[in-house]
Amino acid sequence: MTARIIDGNALSAEVRGQLATRAAALAAKGITPCLAVILVGEDPASAVYVRNKVAACEKAGMRSLRDVYAPDVDPAVVFARIAELNADPTVHGILVQLPLPRHFDSEAVLEAISPEKDVDGFHAENVGALMQGNPRFIPCTPYGVMKMLESANVPLKGAEVVIVGRSNIVGKPMAMLLLAQSCTVTICHSQSKDLAFHTRRADILVAAVGRAKMITGDMIKPGATVIDVGINRTPEGKLCGDVDFETAKEVAGAITPVPGGVGPMTITMLLANTLEAAERTQK
Ligand code: NDP
Repeated sequence: MTARIIDGNALSAEVRGQLATRAAALAAKGITPCLAVILVGEDPASAVYVRNKVAACEKAGMRSLRDVYAPDVDPAVVFARIAELNADPTVHGILVQLPLPRHFDSEAVLEAISPEKDVDGFHAENVGALMQGNPRFIPCTPYGVMKMLESANVPLKGAEVVIVGRSNIVGKPMAMLLLAQSCTVTICHSQSKDLAFHTRRADILVAAVGRAKMITGDMIKPGATVIDVGINRTPEGKLCGDVDFETAKEVAGAITPVPGGVGPMTITMLLANTLEAAERTQK
């Protein structure tokens, strides 16, 4: 059996087209959705992510601001800039690219962003709202995964879901969203015993670990839907996911590739959240 590919590029193009139409309608009323991105330091991967986010905004007819700071910047400077952006009515979304340098208290930085502009959905108030089943902003990566499951018509009610990874940005919010759709959710992590025992039970398997090709075909239930969130590089420098695509696609029913899977959807849902924030200013 060869799995059906859930194509993140194709779905992204479709959703971004819809967002561009909504952004144009808003612009006609004098509101151009605007995302402000703050980057601290010189991490090359972060710089690429920020560049992609800014470019995606512009392509969708949204405005973006980019502030780049030296790695040794005084955190007070960044806090002051966040306060300025919070108060600026022409800015609808604010995102601080993680990870921040060690001398920053990352949690305090995320809490400084106004919850109404927290398009990443990482502010404690927004995390709480998601937990209560009443989200203001859904974190972009899990949001993108939900869209992919929906577009692929994957049945959720009562499905056995196993998520590998328990981070605040992927694993935990992913679990909340799937639980809200009446899935039975298991979260695995580095201390889980017998990972394959869990993954083999999954109708839907979400890998969000950051270890190249660690989920192999023999760890997958035949016919399962496999969502690969991981972004890793092989020793040869090629991008790859947490799932060993070659063996997994022979067992899974549907699978997301890397690249071209969850990655583009993450940026798309960031645009969706920014647009949503801008639309709310009208209500
Ligand atoms: P974190 O490093 O924050 O979390 C990784 C998780 O994996 C932790 O919960 C850790 O467990 C768990 N883990 C580590 N080793 C094992 C193991 N051997 N068995 C089971 N679980 C293990 O990563 P993120 O959640 O931020 O990101 C995960 C991956 O997703 C990365 O590759 C990242 O680049 C990618 N990513 C991709 C995005 C996209 O747009 N496609 C967006 C965000 C992230 P423990 O908690 O016990 O340490």
